[in-house]
Amino acid sequence: AKANGRGRVEMFDAALRAELEARARVEADIRAGLARGEFELHFQPVMTVAGGQLHSYEALIRWQHPERGLVPPNEFIPLAEESLLICEIGRWVLNSATKQLAAWTHADPRSHGGVTMAVNISARHLASRTLLDEVRHALGESGLEPTRLVLEITETVVLDEPTADAHLRELRALGVAVSLDDFGTGYTSIGQLQNLQVDTLKIDQSFLRSNDEATQALVQLMVTAAHAFRMDVVAEGVETQAQLDRLGEIGCELAQGYFLGRPRPARDIVVGGLSAASG
Ligand code: C2E
Ligand code: CA
Ligand code: CA
Ligand code: CA
Repeated sequence: AKANGRGRVEMFDAALRAELEARARVEADIRAGLARGEFELHFQPVMTVAGGQLHSYEALIRWQHPERGLVPPNEFIPLAEESLLICEIGRWVLNSATKQLAAWTHADPRSHGGVTMAVNISARHLASRTLLDEVRHALGESGLEPTRLVLEITETVVLDEPTADAHLRELRALGVAVSLDDFGTGYTSIGQLQNLQVDTLKIDQSFLRSNDEATQALVQLMVTAAHAFRMDVVAEGVETQAQLDRLGEIGCELAQGYFLGRPRPARDIVVGGLSAASG
């Protein structure tokens, strides 16, 4: 029995070591990818439901991997989130996204002067002491007004991290807006919304998938509550005209989804007659 137990420990050891090594390899690969400029942002528009006008963009990261091709965020962000690597990625995203919006604004102030840029920020990054400085740096370098930047965070972030709330206050004092992503999928109740440091609510796309009356009533409730707390509401994952019409009926003013525009690289987005990719 003793030898058996020992064997198990050794097997566990080997498995653990193999996993740690695999993880270290991917981390090194991501770090090298950052250094080699393999990451790129795709931008998806958020449109007004009533007028069909461009309201903002959400920056979504992709990894143009030399062997694996275009790698979606779900295949590397979760791993990066387990270490400080996510802060490095977040810093790169902040700098690139603000630079891109500044370039578009310069190319066509009329169409883009009032447009904002939303960037996804992970829990660990929001908790870090350096985020505020990094946001200031990105705004300073790009010359963008703080009000043109929106940080998208998920609800687990806001509730679980004691420092997150303090950091959100500092960021909002700077003039940056905060958006609560994937709302309805976590633990935040509608009542808790009024205590959160949040300007915009993004209703998770799963709510648009089901057509039953109960779900529609929930969406209506979220929209009404958000407005009562003076928040804007974005419906995510709009794929059909019928869904868009329904959002108009219940007073949801902003929408994002394949029906309105897919995420695209800057070189494919034409602003002021030019493709103003910032490089
Ligand atoms: P998310 O923040 O909820 O972003 C929305 C996701 O839904 C995006 O997937 C987008 O391409 C997709 N989407 C948009 N409209 C539709 C639609 O009409 N139908 C469907 N089926 N999907 C739609 P993507 O780009 O693969 O990103 C997945 C997740 O990865 C994001 O979810 C976000 O949590 C994370 N992510 C993306 N970029 C970043 C980043 O720069 N930093 C961090 N920390 N996370 C990121
Ligand atoms: Ca998001
Ligand atoms: Ca979302
Ligand atoms: Ca998500």
